[in-house]
Amino acid sequence: MTRADGFDAVVVGAGPNGLVAAVVMASEGRRVLLVEAADRVGGALRCEQFTLPGFQHDVGATVLPLALASRAFRHLELERDGLTWAHPHFPAAHPLDGANAVLLHRDPDRTARGLGRDAGAWHGVVGATARAGNGLVDTLLSPLDVPRAPLAAARYGVCGALPATWLARIRFRTEAGRAVLAGMAAHSVLDLNQPITAGYGMLLAALAHSVGWPVVRGGSQRLADALAARLGSLGGEIHTGTPVRRLADLPDARAVLLDLTPRQVLAVAGDRLPPRYRARLQRFRYGPGVFKVDWALDGPVPWHDPQVGGAATVHLGGTLEEIAAAERDVARGRLPTRPFVLCVLIVPIPWAIWRWLSTRCFAYEVTNQRIRIRQGVFSRRTDSLELYRVKDASFVQPFVMRMVGIGNVELETSDVTNPVLWIRGVPDADALREKILKAVDAVRDRKGVRELDVPGGHLHS
Ligand SMILES: Cc1cc2nc3c(=O)[nH]c(=O)nc-3n(C[C@H](O)[C@H](O)[C@H](O)COP(=O)(O)OP(=O)(O)OC[C@H]3O[C@@H](n4cnc5c(N)ncnc54)[C@H](O)[C@@H]3O)c2cc1C
Repeated sequence: MTRADGFDAVVVGAGPNGLVAAVVMASEGRRVLLVEAADRVGGALRCEQFTLPGFQHDVGATVLPLALASRAFRHLELERDGLTWAHPHFPAAHPLDGANAVLLHRDPDRTARGLGRDAGAWHGVVGATARAGNGLVDTLLSPLDVPRAPLAAARYGVCGALPATWLARIRFRTEAGRAVLAGMAAHSVLDLNQPITAGYGMLLAALAHSVGWPVVRGGSQRLADALAARLGSLGGEIHTGTPVRRLADLPDARAVLLDLTPRQVLAVAGDRLPPRYRARLQRFRYGPGVFKVDWALDGPVPWHDPQVGGAATVHLGGTLEEIAAAERDVARGRLPTRPFVLCVLIVPIPWAIWRWLSTRCFAYEVTNQRIRIRQGVFSRRTDSLELYRVKDASFVQPFVMRMVGIGNVELETSDVTNPVLWIRGVPDADALREKILKAVDAVRDRKGVRELDVPGGHLHS
């Protein structure tokens, strides 16, 4: 870790904060060294293939509105280096028992309309925060700077300083309005009865309107890699696979930045810190952990409200009271019986291509006697079913299909080898379902076939 002319700054830890700090300093002409313990840069922006080939899972961060909104990122313009963002059809959905899900759209008016009696509250609390724009975001994210938007910050602070539970009850009248605010605030992983939790919810929801809730196309690792590439292009050096144990291990530099947690800072630099600061770090209590599960799915989630499928982020936690109770348990170190779950659904491109190919390689034919279905991308299979064996036909249209005007027909049959047959990805699938049911009735009338359901099987008479 040496350089003939030395370094101006050494950054320890190549998570998003360490990477951005290194790039900002290098772009000011500083000689920067970035040292990372893991074999790859990124920290919680890394991707791993946790499940199946073709599925890249983000280890931590996936939905990154602040990577568009924060001043440091805005100025980097990483899109110039090929980084691309993907925006879901709408940022988030919040399902509720026995009601339609609340949808958070990019458009605040549309979101507010969906909240009925709480439309005005949404405009007043979240819409106003979104309208305050980058000035407010910069003021909130750079508390040590001269505030760029002091008035907007003061207005935001009036509501934002409250506990989320208070703001929800004071400003929102409907269960849906209160629940959606609680879902936003629960991203803070704090007890929602604590001050400032309202502010988290307001800012996050407002970002959905002002910049969206994008994900990085190809996975968050690409953002880390783009930052590392930018650092390299500015003359910075990166050493991965190099855990720093003591500051003395590092080359001389005018500044050392530690992108580490308090206990890690103590371990690396404890002997160089003033005793009072060291004592503060020793007293620091980490927040609660999160439990993350990664799944590879073989199809869309069958949400009760199919509109939910258009969101990348789904808040599963129920009402304000249920979310607040779950977060209170977590904050007190107890396992909640019904935890608040943040569900992020991303479609991997190989999977999408496979589904597209499967749809393209699919053909069906309905005669007045039978249905023939030919399918298979590599190997072809043809299924044939006598029409009189169709017991029922349903029309199924996942959200992605609705966007392109196609759908599926699911046939429930009395054929033991094909109890369920799918006709997938066809235009006007509902009309096809009707046509099949009529043809089934006609063939049964012609043949005088009647179907009886008996325990353990079916009888045709
Ligand atoms: C499950 C999960 C989901 C999340 N989802 C989101 C999300 O969707 N959107 C969002 O904005 N945020 C999300 N976050 C939060 C986000 O990931 C963090 O805020 C962010 O990663 C913090 O970045 P950082 O650079 O400070 O630290 P980190 O990302 O933790 O990086 C620290 C780096 O330091 C390295 N390091 C540690 N010790 C040493 C040492 N001694 N020597 C050298 N290197 C060392 C580590 O290997 C690591 O690479 C999520 C977090 C988690 C855990």
